[in-house]
Amino acid sequence: MTERFNGSFTQQEPIPEAGIEAAIAVMRHGRLHRYNTAAGEHSETALLEQEFAASVGSQYCLAVASGGYAMATALRAVGVTPGDTVLSNAFTLAPVPGAIASLGAIPVFVGVTESLTIDLDDLEAKLGEARVLLLSHMRGHICDMDRLMAMCDAAGVTVIEDCAHTMGAAWNGTPSGRHGAIGCYSCQTYKHVNAGEGGFLVTDDPHLAAKAVMLSGSYMLYERHLAAPPKEAFDDIKYHIPNISGRMDNLRAAILRPQVADLATQCRRWNDRYYALEEGLRDTPGLTVIERPDEETIVGSSFQFLLLDWAASAVRDVVAKCAARGVELKWFGAAEPVAFTSRYDSWRYAPSKPMAASDRVLAGIVDLRVPLTFSLDDCALIARIIRDEVSRAHNRGMA
Ligand SMILES: *Cc1c(COP(=O)(O)O)cnc(C)c1O
Repeated sequence: MTERFNGSFTQQEPIPEAGIEAAIAVMRHGRLHRYNTAAGEHSETALLEQEFAASVGSQYCLAVASGGYAMATALRAVGVTPGDTVLSNAFTLAPVPGAIASLGAIPVFVGVTESLTIDLDDLEAKLGEARVLLLSHMRGHICDMDRLMAMCDAAGVTVIEDCAHTMGAAWNGTPSGRHGAIGCYSCQTYKHVNAGEGGFLVTDDPHLAAKAVMLSGSYMLYERHLAAPPKEAFDDIKYHIPNISGRMDNLRAAILRPQVADLATQCRRWNDRYYALEEGLRDTPGLTVIERPDEETIVGSSFQFLLLDWAASAVRDVVAKCAARGVELKWFGAAEPVAFTSRYDSWRYAPSKPMAASDRVLAGIVDLRVPLTFSLDDCALIARIIRDEVSRAHNRGMA
């Protein structure tokens, strides 16, 4: 019997009832803009920022319109200007080089290892090429942050973390987003909390926080924040920082607050599913599972494996055979970017030189989403289907 999976790889869970109720209350009172508050009222957005800051242990938090906006704001706040170069990952998604390009700055791509993290040797070699690193914890894989921070600190390179896939994750007990100067997160539907769109920026630096608040479009209403620095931090900058509106609104904040409160539980549920997939795929001939270091606290909201050194036609065949059985795999090696999948040489606005070792890894990366609507049995079934198709293709190759 040929098994088939009938679930959807893009179906999220519903918004928690508490979030729906809170959103309806916001719509009923009509004060959707974050600075539109009744006397004595704190806006949903201000409360969300306070709660998210507490969850990662940061001094300051700013909620904004998207993860991409959070990254662009972080880059502006640390002083990136047009023509500057910014180091970033070759293995990431389009909003990351896009955030750099939105400032008229130029990405300098750093390679990827077989652990799917940034190649720290390549980074070390390129540290002299920029003052800022926009580090993407792509698909939740966290590099040796101790080594990375020591290298960047020594070279005077400011680190901004893209935590779109690591909200709730940690390295050596420190939450992802809390190693660098600024951490950026996304609240877009496919990330770890779902407001459709949205983002956060966290930092302990009052100067960076004040700049980010003003950049996001606070006008002179920055005192209505609960997770921003005191008003003195704005004295020197308030006439100098342009307003580039990208605020969060109270409707999304209302939807997000219960999700931030539930995040640890959701992360455990993701990991149960991740480890079910891992167990089902381990020791499949020809397939490499990504070993996760002990220092890493993961959030398994997606799963990757490598078909290293496979012929492109054989990988395409596995992807097609799995698709025919209801299992949607994404292949980073495809020549043309498909759906959300892309790679450094598909961003033609950003110059890049070929990186042979990274190209070998990228050509082997196969990726799948793990929505929480999957049961553990679904994950075991998906793993059986992949194992079956990979084994067959591998045996054909061997024959
Ligand atoms: C989703 C994503 C972001 C931020 O995306 P937005 O859609 O702008 O919220 C940043 N980096 C990566 C790697 C992402 O996947």
